[in-house]
Amino acid sequence: MEDEGFVIKKKEYSDYDIFGSFYTNNLGKINLLIKNARKSKKRFMGKLEPFNLVSLKFKYKNQGSYPNLLESIDLIDNHNYITLDKKIIVLSSLINEYIDNFETLENASKKNFNYLKDFFLRKDKNNLSLCLNEVIKFQLKYLKNLGVSPSVQRCFKCQKNLKEINFFDIQNGGNICYSCGKNNTNFNSMRIKNKIDLRSVKRDDNSKLNLIKTIINFSEFHSGKQFNSVQYLD
Ligand SMILES: [Zn+2]
Repeated sequence: MEDEGFVIKKKEYSDYDIFGSFYTNNLGKINLLIKNARKSKKRFMGKLEPFNLVSLKFKYKNQGSYPNLLESIDLIDNHNYITLDKKIIVLSSLINEYIDNFETLENASKKNFNYLKDFFLRKDKNNLSLCLNEVIKFQLKYLKNLGVSPSVQRCFKCQKNLKEINFFDIQNGGNICYSCGKNNTNFNSMRIKNKIDLRSVKRDDNSKLNLIKTIINFSEFHSGKQFNSVQYLD
């Protein structure tokens, strides 16, 4: 079978082999056993790095048994991550964590594949401000496609437009205004550390970062999994 996909992560499997995790156009998330990848480094040099877009040939459900075996891999887009700033790498890893945490194997979504393309094939890859915008876009589109999107611009209860995020209800829907929340016993725990001015979020990198972290909290709650990149965002 042939498919194109993004490298999500790789894991050493034995003295010789590696397990690669990919998000492909036709199959969604898939794990492939890469025989002798640790022995014949030259054959795979630079190709199995995270964020790359690659074309894959593999034996799919080989004789009905797991695992699927990679036959060949070629670069379509070399993300060249060693040339990227540390913050950009952390933000890119966050995108892969979304796939890793939320996706089940072989549950394809063309939309998700396109969201990954929008993010990883963006222009000006080392521009932090632009990268932050694209992370927010990815988070909101991806969560919406999952059916768990948080309300950001409006109070999720009364739908009033809000200029700031002061309180964020990760369990029930996101941004919530004072009058909708004040009678709730948990309301104080919903207060976010640094309020986010939604009017400045388009131009201020700190506001963008705070919004990203707030959406990560929301995502952690709804996936039941931790996002490890978040600790490296400061
Ligand atoms: Zn309200």
